[in-house]
Amino acid sequence: MGVSNSRDDKAFSLDVSVRDLVEFVLRRGDLRSGPSFTSPSRALEGTRGHQKLQSSRDDHYRAEVALKWVTVRPTFTLTLRGRIDGVREGPEEIFLEEIKTITGEWSEKPSDLHWAQLRIYGGIWNRLNPSKPLHLRLTYFHLESDTEYCFDEKKTPSFVESFLQEVLEKYLKWLDRHVARTVQRNATIENLTFPFSKLRAGQASMLEAVRNLHLKGGAMMVEAPTGIGKTMASLFPSIKALAGEHVRQLMVVLARTPGQTVFQEALKLLEQKGAKVKTLSMLAREKVCRRGNKACDPATCARREGYFDRLGEARGAAIHESPDLLNTTVLNELGERFNVCPHALSTHLAPWVDIVMGDYNYAFDPGAQLSYLFGEESPRRNRIALLVDESHNLVDRGREMHSQCIRTENWTPSVKWLQKNKPEGATLLRQLWKTMRATLNTGSSTGIRIQPTLHQTELFPAEKQTSSIQKTSEPLKIIKRVSPSEVVLEETPKSWGLLMERFLQVAEEQLKTPHLDAVHTELLELYFEIYKFLKATREQGDHHQLILKRHHRHITLHRFCMDPSREISASWKKTWSTLFFSATLSPSSFYQQLLGTSEHHSNLSLPSPFQRSQWQTIIHTGIFTTYRQRVFSYSEVAQVIQITSQSKQGNYLAFFPSFEYLRQVMQRLSDLPELTGSKTVLMAQSQEMDESARSEFLKVFKQQNDYTKIGLAVMGGIFGEGIDLAGKALIGVVVVGVGLPQVCLERDLIREHFDAYGDNGFDFAYRHPGINRVMQAVGRLIRTEQDRGVAVLIDQRYSDESYHALLPDAWPKEEIESSNDLRAALQRFWNSND
Ligand code: SF4
Repeated sequence: MGVSNSRDDKAFSLDVSVRDLVEFVLRRGDLRSGPSFTSPSRALEGTRGHQKLQSSRDDHYRAEVALKWVTVRPTFTLTLRGRIDGVREGPEEIFLEEIKTITGEWSEKPSDLHWAQLRIYGGIWNRLNPSKPLHLRLTYFHLESDTEYCFDEKKTPSFVESFLQEVLEKYLKWLDRHVARTVQRNATIENLTFPFSKLRAGQASMLEAVRNLHLKGGAMMVEAPTGIGKTMASLFPSIKALAGEHVRQLMVVLARTPGQTVFQEALKLLEQKGAKVKTLSMLAREKVCRRGNKACDPATCARREGYFDRLGEARGAAIHESPDLLNTTVLNELGERFNVCPHALSTHLAPWVDIVMGDYNYAFDPGAQLSYLFGEESPRRNRIALLVDESHNLVDRGREMHSQCIRTENWTPSVKWLQKNKPEGATLLRQLWKTMRATLNTGSSTGIRIQPTLHQTELFPAEKQTSSIQKTSEPLKIIKRVSPSEVVLEETPKSWGLLMERFLQVAEEQLKTPHLDAVHTELLELYFEIYKFLKATREQGDHHQLILKRHHRHITLHRFCMDPSREISASWKKTWSTLFFSATLSPSSFYQQLLGTSEHHSNLSLPSPFQRSQWQTIIHTGIFTTYRQRVFSYSEVAQVIQITSQSKQGNYLAFFPSFEYLRQVMQRLSDLPELTGSKTVLMAQSQEMDESARSEFLKVFKQQNDYTKIGLAVMGGIFGEGIDLAGKALIGVVVVGVGLPQVCLERDLIREHFDAYGDNGFDFAYRHPGINRVMQAVGRLIRTEQDRGVAVLIDQRYSDESYHALLPDAWPKEEIESSNDLRAALQRFWNSND
């Protein structure tokens, strides 16, 4: 729902389109059931349809006439905006036309919402130019058959006036409550004081920097080590900004769902201090819906039927009666009470809350972004303050969001269905598979025969002139052959593009068919997988590479994004202010480049608030853990863990570069007589661990007893960051290796890409992400001023300056080379800290 608000000294000014007003006040009926198909080219075809009809009208007809009406209330002004498709002013009457384009089967019954939209236009016209009767025409233009269906009604000025009045009044009534709540909220925000009596070291600087960011706008990166209280330091000034001049809504985005808990606890503290701030926690459908992963089924889910009949009441209750935190429990209660889908409700509530909290996707993924905030037409653009928690994760997540992949292993149900119902579609997919396989086998796109009669698609109009190929072999430029089953191509061969386009046409015809059977979801997913891929290949830019891989019979065509900075910055640049923050954003130049900020944006790097004497980093450079040498290191690493864990009874976490390494060391540890005979519990992360198993693991760690617990986990995994084991829950961390991501083709391509631009590609692809993981793992150790502990880093590479220099200067470090040195160093530390 497009409503925006800004505030001058006295009143709020709000803005809504005629279309959104009608949707908000008058929409009734069911929630759309199941995945439905709208061709991506539909908007363009619709625009063309409009233009075609408009140009066929006479000379007195004016197309695309903008209308605006401003309503002034004591506490706000509302601007109602719209654009009527056509106006003809006659001596006796005013002719207003609203055009809607349609495709496929049509009931030939005009929609009530369309009539309402037209009557509202009539009402605004009448207010601006009173006195003449109105001739309202609702025209439906069927795009495929080129047929016009016209519906006319003649209305008096008083009719359209009272219609507008009635609809507007309902909306204004809602806005009265919305603004009253906002005024009350602002009063609580203006009086809000920081919830802690003492500011932690560094926290004051962060508070001030975030406050300035929201005043001036732009982007900022803050590296705030553990213990600074960065959650509150980011949230408090951002909430304060809601009562200021620029920010109308706050959006907090996170890499992982459990991260929401920390923010929700901080919000609870602010609520206790008096803040009345409405927060919506947005989660994926399967996490909100009581049916979990089961598909939405309109036949069995009553919460879809008549959803819009009950939405208004549910929305009112959520905003004005429910607790300030609208989390899954509250949304489900509302779903139960009003018999509405809780997930759909959350999307309809988003424009009306003060804080939206959710995954990175909602801000950065073009397929999941909140359109009322990030859409091109959004009136909220530039009025959002965006907080990006644990921003170091956004680089790889951005790569995923902006890479496209076609996987033939998902094709089987669609191919079978097409074979029966539309064999041409199945043939096109097989041809595509064959030619991709041929490329892997021979290095050329052989065996393609596409008829010159292939008709051009409307999906990619810019490509209209593409000539269809008639050759049976198309030479391809293979940039790199990594193995017989893996190549990097310079570009998508034209013949593949043509096959994909034709397939999209065939699939589209089928998807438009009503009552398509169970294959609908698979075909729909396949359609969009190929569509997104093809659309992306039309975009300019050299920061993607095309990888073709085979695994048995399955082929993957991956358009891999090596540098997501352009896409990431395109999103955050739509906000008023964006704060990137994390405990680890070093080196800043690396993150600055990849998050798309620049030297014009401010960076803040805060020192750790903890005493150096609270902990010790012991760097063991006597063990080689590179991929080739790690096989010789298992026993030595096990011994280091054993020595460390026996230096003092307590809990330890050891982080490994891979599950295989973890398993090998686990085996050696289990056989060590020093451990088997002692009160020691060994626990390990498994590849299958879900969120509840993770919580269980952490619960054991938090239990107080006289056992030593050793947890083995992988770096960069579910225990590598975002866990808080304060006090005695963790007194030691062992990190095996320098954290480098596994060597693979994608990482090598990142390296080559940045090398080509004169940067150190290895740093971008491997070293910096690796050291970030190490820092995150070590960051688990000291969480409060009372904590004491040791971090043991194992790898000969730390003796090399290129790695050593990346470890923070603030870390107290000691370099050792042997087990005896390790024992002595541990003893020294614990002796001085007991
Ligand atoms: S309540 Fe669940 S099953 Fe029903 S419509 Fe919503 S998401 Fe689908």
